[in-house]
Amino acid sequence: MNKRLSGKPIAKKIYKELNERILEKKEKPKLVIIFIGEDPAAAYYVKMLEKKGRKIGIEVVTKKFPVQIKQKNLIDEIKKLNQDKTVHAIMMQKPLPTHLNEFAIILQIDPQKDVDAFHPINIGKMVLGKDSFIPSTPAAVLELLKFYDIQTSGKNIVILGRSNIVGKPLANLLLRKDQTGNATITVCHSRTQNLVKFTQKADILIAALGKPNFVSAEMIAENAIIIDVGINQIEDSEKGTIYVGDVDYEDCLGKAASLTPVPGGIGSITTAILLRNVVESAKKVKNSNNFIDGIDKKNK
Ligand code: NAP
Repeated sequence: MNKRLSGKPIAKKIYKELNERILEKKEKPKLVIIFIGEDPAAAYYVKMLEKKGRKIGIEVVTKKFPVQIKQKNLIDEIKKLNQDKTVHAIMMQKPLPTHLNEFAIILQIDPQKDVDAFHPINIGKMVLGKDSFIPSTPAAVLELLKFYDIQTSGKNIVILGRSNIVGKPLANLLLRKDQTGNATITVCHSRTQNLVKFTQKADILIAALGKPNFVSAEMIAENAIIIDVGINQIEDSEKGTIYVGDVDYEDCLGKAASLTPVPGGIGSITTAILLRNVVESAKKVKNSNNFIDGIDKKNK
């Protein structure tokens, strides 16, 4: 197995497959991103989606709204997009301003168009192991495991972080009875006591806590596989603004069996998976008779 688990060949493979699928279609898949405010990290992600989408033949439209937008106006906008048959996928870019009720807003998105997989119907289907959208970052971790043929069955996997978009879905997916599942999972968080006791026992350690260079060599087991989901912007005295992960890559390099880099690891796969979800949603929306109130009849 490679020491450096790059995400780039995986993203390249996904884009190539998507491009071939899109070329066969008459109608371009269309994603609408709702972007409120001006968060720079979110703006960067949206730019990447627009750029990559354009390259492979997905129409990506970003609708920008001021931070003062009222909840009712936002919900009206989502309802219009739900009704619009030319829109196959809707993405609500986070973070949302604090005056908006995030859960109430996500509930309004048609689950068939919910490519971020934040709607409770999609989350429920994922937990039950039914066919559903899978949030792109956890799905990126699974793609990496598959690509590098990393066995998870019977392995001790420790996840650092229990967020709704990374840690929790990932724990559920790694528990599934399938190729990238059957693992024994421990999820750690900010209240975990004696964290190192858990991290040192991990065959596979997945860091998703948002703390730059947090995981050091002394925290990991000899020959562990380390997957770094973190993306943290820091100021380097020589290089200026740079992005680092949650794992101290250089420190862990000598001890781990293999590691994902940041940048060029999980982040690069995530964008490709989101766009793959858009292509999938275009197929679902076209065959929308299979859905009643967001429930796929075939999956009941
Ligand atoms: P989040 O919502 O802030 O959640 C962070 C999690 O880490 C929480 O569960 C928190 O515990 C836990 N945590 C914080 N400090 C800890 C500590 N000292 N020890 C153990 N656990 C600790 O973050 P997120 O949205 O999941 O993102 C995590 C990281 O992944 C960030 O760097 C983010 O930029 C990155 N990210 C990357 C991608 C990608 O595509 N590569 C996508 C999404 C996010 P509590 O629950 O107790 O607070």
